Amino acid sequence: MTNGHVTWLISPIGYQSITKRCPCCEIKKLFFPAGTFRVNAQKKILDVWNIYKCEKCDYTWNIDVLSRIKTGKIDPELHQRFIHNNLDEVRRYAYDYPLLKRNQAELGPSPEYEIKGPSPYTYRDSSLLDITIEFEYRIAVRLINILTRKLCLNRRQVMHLIEEHALLDVTANDLNRKLKMPRTFRLDLARLYALDLPLTTRPEQAVTL
Ligand SMILES: [Zn+2]
Repeated sequence: MTNGHVTWLISPIGYQSITKRCPCCEIKKLFFPAGTFRVNAQKKILDVWNIYKCEKCDYTWNIDVLSRIKTGKIDPELHQRFIHNNLDEVRRYAYDYPLLKRNQAELGPSPEYEIKGPSPYTYRDSSLLDITIEFEYRIAVRLINILTRKLCLNRRQVMHLIEEHALLDVTANDLNRKLKMPRTFRLDLARLYALDLPLTTRPEQAVTL
């Protein structure tokens, strides 16, 4: 018996949307990054905006990324990425929640997400598995939703794991809390397998015996 350690990375799919009244559609609409920056450099002063577009029409809205920055103060590589509409930067700024707040942007629904990392069912030999949940971007996700997906169990079964001390360092109250920060807990695999709960879905990358 050995101990194992896995990391589950919460990685949102697509972009965080914002919601605002579209003057063209004349109602509130979701706006998503168009995939382009607008860069304006005048007299060595730089402004950069991330351009958002209405989900229904072509109306655009600019979110301030950099405002009145001296061109000498910006990392030249970052400057190039703005000029070339680097999509990783577009995405990074789309999840920059403090920046969105400074722009008084009202957030749209939380995006869907993937949980990257191995299924616990690939660890037959480990008695105790340390599981760390990390975030690519700090979207709010409830612990119960991560656990039901990765363990292929329903909410009641996850509660049962806590009661039976198969899931350690997590309380029933923690399950509904929105996680935004990394979190580590332990899963006692020997107890999990002993409980022999029927899985609700097929585990990813499961070992074949
Ligand atoms: Zn519109």
